[in-house]
Amino acid sequence: MKTAVPEEENALNKKDFVAPNDVRWCPGCGDYAILNAIQRTFPELGVPKEKFVVISGIGCSSRFPYYMNTYGFHTIHGRAPTVATGVKVANPELSVWMVTGDGDGLSIGGNHLLHLIRRNPDVNVLLFNNRIYGLTKGQYSPTSEVGKKTKSTPVGSVDYPVNPLLFALGSESTFVARTSDTDMKHMVETFKAAHAHKGTSFIEIFQNCVIYNNKTWEPVTGRESKAEQSLFLEEGEPLVFGAERNKGIRVNGFDPEVVTLGENGVNESDLLIHNSKTSNPAYPALLSQLNYPAFPTPFGIFRQLEGRETYEDAVTQQLEVSHSKQGEGDLQALLTGSDSWVVE
Ligand code: SF4
Repeated sequence: MKTAVPEEENALNKKDFVAPNDVRWCPGCGDYAILNAIQRTFPELGVPKEKFVVISGIGCSSRFPYYMNTYGFHTIHGRAPTVATGVKVANPELSVWMVTGDGDGLSIGGNHLLHLIRRNPDVNVLLFNNRIYGLTKGQYSPTSEVGKKTKSTPVGSVDYPVNPLLFALGSESTFVARTSDTDMKHMVETFKAAHAHKGTSFIEIFQNCVIYNNKTWEPVTGRESKAEQSLFLEEGEPLVFGAERNKGIRVNGFDPEVVTLGENGVNESDLLIHNSKTSNPAYPALLSQLNYPAFPTPFGIFRQLEGRETYEDAVTQQLEVSHSKQGEGDLQALLTGSDSWVVE
């Protein structure tokens, strides 16, 4: 006779998501913290373990599926979006997580990522941004700064960098967020919010490559600079930052500016109020362009729009309508039908 197992004994924990494989990132790499955050997040999502799939492209970050004790697919360079979309459409019940880097996602796979985002499948995209190609030993990437000296730019890069969040917003992403490998609590909260969103969730993660681009985010996320150079977005709250919480962001015409509360009659009512749910992309686009050193760098959810149909729902509905009107398809008849011809 079967005995019912108490629910708490069925509960998943972090260990359930740790794969037995050796983790082969460099000691000190920021990827470890992100892996830890995901392994802490998954047990809390209420999703059966067998419903998780982690899909990656190529690069250091893309080794992720090896280290997760879930279904996974380490695909080819830049093509994770294609596979992730197919997996979600084939089985909409799966919780699909796509891992990519700034090179894999914005250079080799930039075109594919654009189309995933605009189609809005319910896929969670984690873009690890370390502003360098780590796996191939230190070439400049699409997010490297102008002037960056690397093995492939010995006198400095002349390429203007891609802003990943602006790229996602330009592709009409329905969920856009940023977090950092230095902030475990914030990562877990952000991943949970991404999971809760129905549609594509795009998350940029500031990640440190300790070998080829060490401390690239230190001026923003470092212990000394975080309070003055980071801005944590809170829904419905004014954009306030600073060690003494006395600075804020207001707009002057179309341009943002940093102001000090209490100076020149400025108070909180003058500041921008965070609203991630506005359908106007101008506000999250403005936020995404707040950069070091002139502005604090925002972290949190920039945009979350509910209600847009997901790709898998649209495709499933279309298939159901076609089936009800025309019955089961016949591939052979399609291939040899009136739209085919013989080459002589
Ligand atoms: Fe991490 Fe950089 Fe090493 Fe790659 S090369 S594993 S990104 S530290």
